[in-house]
Amino acid sequence: MSYPIDDAEQLIATAQEELPPSTRSRLIAKLRMGIHIEDAARDLDVSVQRVFATARILSAFGDQLDATLTAERDPDLPHGTVTGYNKRCRCPQCRAAVNRRI
Ligand SMILES: [Zn+2]
Repeated sequence: MSYPIDDAEQLIATAQEELPPSTRSRLIAKLRMGIHIEDAARDLDVSVQRVFATARILSAFGDQLDATLTAERDPDLPHGTVTGYNKRCRCPQCRAAVNRRI
């Protein structure tokens, strides 16, 4: 998807405001402690939807988030499947499996 430059800049500015760097690093720190992303986001008063929306806009954060979710995921789950997602896995493969189905 492409936006005119001004809109893209506005989008990034809004994302930075809604999920500032301090909140993003606290979120990543919580994930690294093994806290589920939904619980971590709730602790920080943001929605998971907001986190993933921001991750799409701020690609450096998106990469860090995906790498952390992959590193912390449960190795016993079938990743890249709806089953994994339904068992609350939010790694990039499980999210993609659900997005493919929609
Ligand atoms: Zn997964």
